[in-house]
Amino acid sequence: MAALKLMIPGPVDIPEEVRDAMAIRTMPHYGNDWVRLYGETQEMAKKVFGTKNDLYIMPGPGTMALEAALGSALEPGDTVLIPLNGFFGERLITMAEGLGLKVISLPLPLTEPISAAEVAALLQEHPEVRALAIVHHETSTGVLNPLEGVLAAARARGVLTVVDAISSMGGVPLLVDEWGVDLCVTVANKALETPPGVALLSISAQAWAAIENRKAPRGWYLDLKTWRWYMENWGSWHPSPVTMPTSNINALHTSLMALLESGLETRFAEYRAAAAATRAGLRALEFSMFAPDSCASPLVTAFCMRPGVDATALQQALVQDAGVMISGGLTDLHGKILRVGHIGLARQRDYVVSFLLGVEDYLRGQGLAIAPGQSLVSVAHLK
Ligand SMILES: *Cc1c(COP(=O)(O)O)cnc(C)c1O
Repeated sequence: MAALKLMIPGPVDIPEEVRDAMAIRTMPHYGNDWVRLYGETQEMAKKVFGTKNDLYIMPGPGTMALEAALGSALEPGDTVLIPLNGFFGERLITMAEGLGLKVISLPLPLTEPISAAEVAALLQEHPEVRALAIVHHETSTGVLNPLEGVLAAARARGVLTVVDAISSMGGVPLLVDEWGVDLCVTVANKALETPPGVALLSISAQAWAAIENRKAPRGWYLDLKTWRWYMENWGSWHPSPVTMPTSNINALHTSLMALLESGLETRFAEYRAAAAATRAGLRALEFSMFAPDSCASPLVTAFCMRPGVDATALQQALVQDAGVMISGGLTDLHGKILRVGHIGLARQRDYVVSFLLGVEDYLRGQGLAIAPGQSLVSVAHLK
């Protein structure tokens, strides 16, 4: 099968050097070579997070690390505030309820970012709130929630902050220490541009205090105390409690090195350019954007169907005729929007051009008059 260009919000197509780094001989998860590789990877990840906090790399998906964070820092019966403007916010709520937490949710329209003023008002009204859990980039809609004010409101009240930065870390500014994120979760396979397999989690001193004071029993693997014990007691030879996907972490090491070498700002600008070119191109084809420009993320573009265009048919035509895979809308948005990812190799000009020309071809096939290249209004400066 010919390789599809992945333009989904993750996992993403990655450079050859990162793929090659997966192909090392099996490396054990202990001993000097491993401790050095793991330690360097942690340090580079901390630079991307903007943190001096502890940071662990855990085998599994991002959801696992979110569950470890919420479950380790909070007791059943504790109250958590979860603002909500999409699918991944819903999932946070389901997870928190599954952990026996009391959830106060703040539902907002899907196209509106979470507002600091509303969060501050709810915190004022509910002094029992112990933690705020929030999605940074709502990947289901392409809305980027501005976090700084929301986190400041929580910090002013001593409320623990848990951020789902799964699709945003490494792709847009997120300063864990400066903005005050106690527990920050991401994965390797989105804007960190590595194959799926590990999640990354940073833990502040305030979060550690909550974790150490937690009374209820809490399994073992997902209890962050276990992870701390190994780092502190076995750190010099075997820093994690379980067998690690060492090839994945070797790839993450390669990817983080490339990211830090190019510089975060450069990478952010590349995503912004790819998103801008995609939005301009789709608008030139008379599609409207789902998220308003004021809160649209540069990492995923969600666009609405123009009359007479069927979302699923367009999505399938892109796979079959243009070799490009994009994503559909989730739950209620299925059939209404399509989502194009800009992370990984998808930020490159040949990906954006393949996608836009594929959409043009599809529209032409539907009998619409589209001039060749009509959508390529803003791709010239992409890499
Ligand atoms: C992808 C994504 C998730 C789920 O990540 P997994 O690694 O599949 O658990 C959660 N939240 C957001 C915002 C995401 O983009």
